[in-house]
Amino acid sequence: LSDKLDKALHVLKGHGSITEVNVAETLKEVRRALLDADVNFKIAKDFTNTVKEKALGQNVLTALQPSQLMVKIVKDELTALMGGDVAGINLKGSPSVILMSGLQGSGKTTFSGKLANFLKTKKTKKPLLVACDVYRPAAINQLHVVGDQIGVEVFSDEGNMDPVDIATKAVAYAKQNGHNVVIVDTAGRLAVDEEMMKEIENVHRALNPDETLFVVDAMTGQDAVNTAKAFNDRLNFDGVILTKLDGDTRGGAAISIKTVVNKPIKFIGTGEKMDAIDVFYPERMADRILGMGDVISLVERAQEQFDEEEARKLQKKIAKNQFGFDDFLKQINQVKKMGSMKDLVGMIPGAGKALKDVDIDDDAFKHIEAIIHSMTPEERSIPSTINASRKKRIAKGSGTSVQQINQLLKQFDQMSKMMKMMQGGGGRKMMQMMGK
Ligand code: GDP
Ligand code: MG
Repeated sequence: LSDKLDKALHVLKGHGSITEVNVAETLKEVRRALLDADVNFKIAKDFTNTVKEKALGQNVLTALQPSQLMVKIVKDELTALMGGDVAGINLKGSPSVILMSGLQGSGKTTFSGKLANFLKTKKTKKPLLVACDVYRPAAINQLHVVGDQIGVEVFSDEGNMDPVDIATKAVAYAKQNGHNVVIVDTAGRLAVDEEMMKEIENVHRALNPDETLFVVDAMTGQDAVNTAKAFNDRLNFDGVILTKLDGDTRGGAAISIKTVVNKPIKFIGTGEKMDAIDVFYPERMADRILGMGDVISLVERAQEQFDEEEARKLQKKIAKNQFGFDDFLKQINQVKKMGSMKDLVGMIPGAGKALKDVDIDDDAFKHIEAIIHSMTPEERSIPSTINASRKKRIAKGSGTSVQQINQLLKQFDQMSKMMKMMQGGGGRKMMQMMGK
């Protein structure tokens, strides 16, 4: 989608003046781009009509920077179409009950874990995950694996085939054990069917959840809209979770679903890992669709993870020439905490497109970490003590080669020199920025 919009807006960019003809042409391209992204025909048409009216109303034709104004109008309208503001989730109940719904494979179980993990980091929340997918023993297992991974308790009742009964017991259990959020994972089918709908309806009625969330795979395009409508007709859900936005991103689903069911999109899933969850910001999504990159998300994530105090300590060490491999290891971990490399790169404007086909290896740091772990504390803080026989020992211990050790030492040396140099001028500013 962003490629197409880039092209559409290119018609306008760089033109000092704009004629009614190229406004019309641009809107035609925008509409085609939306259709390509699986946005419903009528929605796309209404959208371009609205943009046209706004553009003429604001007199784009005589504006000083018509192309910018046009981009702004398209972006604002896209934002409005996806809900405008950020929608929160209701956690007022005691416990608050959150019910997941959606087709099989949409990402309910994964998202249940992500949400539990997300809430857990808010210190006041103690979530309980509940396994109500009773048809596949593997599904219960999967939720337990997720729970173990994030350190959240999972309530299950193997052999019990009644989801209403399990969910009711789970809520009672939560009350007794001080869990203030109950996240109920349910069974889905491959397509909308009556039995599944009856079951989730029953669970919904019995629990009267504070939040009923509909989980949908963003890559299913137009089908996603039909599924959303079917679930909404039965459950009148409170919000939508759009998963798998890390892949071949089709912003189209976000636009269509919001328009058709008129419920806010609350979170997005951007990967298989437990931290690949983001609050849905309509404006950022609009930026992303328009190919501007989700810079704000990137900056925010960096801010969350880079500890200011750490950065300051590091700066001192570099100044005193005491930067060692332990510090290097810490840096690697900081970067890793920010999410997968692919996610991060995708958020950089321009880079997403340029690096689309490059395979970015999340395990790129594995060798480096293994090598550093095989060093003694002394070797880590004074790398110059690593002589030939030590290199051999480290290579053996880390399952790498002496050549790889040499390479790392060389890289490390270059990096230390560069950091030292940066300390003088702009470098300090950069380090401070990283800290804040
Ligand atoms: P459920 O049947 O609705 O419970 O779906 P699951 O949670 O089991 O997810 C189905 C598959 O999609 C699994 O392989 C997940 O790892 C994967 N998945 C879930 N969410 C995401 C996401 O945001 N991005 C990607 N890439 N994969 C996801
Ligand atoms: Mg599941």
